[in-house]
Amino acid sequence: MHGPPGLSPTEHLLLGLTRLGQAVRLTAWHNGGPARLSPLQADILLYLAADARPRRQGEIVKALASTPPTVSDAMRALTSKGLVDRRRDPVDTRAVTLTLTDTGRAEADRLSVIPVPLREALDALSDADVAAMLRGTTTMIRVLQEHDAIPVSRTCVTCRFFRPDAHPQDPDRPHHCAFVDAPFGPGELRVDCADHEPADAGQGAAE
Ligand code: SF4
Repeated sequence: MHGPPGLSPTEHLLLGLTRLGQAVRLTAWHNGGPARLSPLQADILLYLAADARPRRQGEIVKALASTPPTVSDAMRALTSKGLVDRRRDPVDTRAVTLTLTDTGRAEADRLSVIPVPLREALDALSDADVAAMLRGTTTMIRVLQEHDAIPVSRTCVTCRFFRPDAHPQDPDRPHHCAFVDAPFGPGELRVDCADHEPADAGQGAAE
């Protein structure tokens, strides 16, 4: 990889990750669709779509590492666009819960289709590249979470059901998910799994 001279391989990697982050963010701005969604509004729709349970605003703030005023503004916009429904929480009537409307779900479906430039960039990777990058990414996410540098995400390496290298005799599918009781390979590590349950602190689900 070409880049500034004198950088170590890990610094080159960080530079590459930064460029990729910029590309993903730029693509999100260009993919606002008919509802003219900002990247944060799109992230909220995808977050709500990932799990059918009604969510509170505080959960969204935490999951997206944002702030209450920023998420409030985005929620107001999404509600006025008819994409999100606000209802009183039946358990705590002082709180409101948020769910997608049918139109919001359709928008989330549209957003979940990977735009062409990103799709082509991903298609350029071999299966081995994908597996290696997923492994590296989930490891970095775990360490960043341990430092409270990013919000906890629902990845295999922080999940109590994850059994890394439980099947050493099978190099294609060495890991095991105790939730579905099945082996899986490094290329199938999940980054946002609805069935994720956090491992106890110090349990060390991660590799
Ligand atoms: S439940 Fe989901 S996050 Fe947990 S180990 Fe299984 S696939 Fe991974």
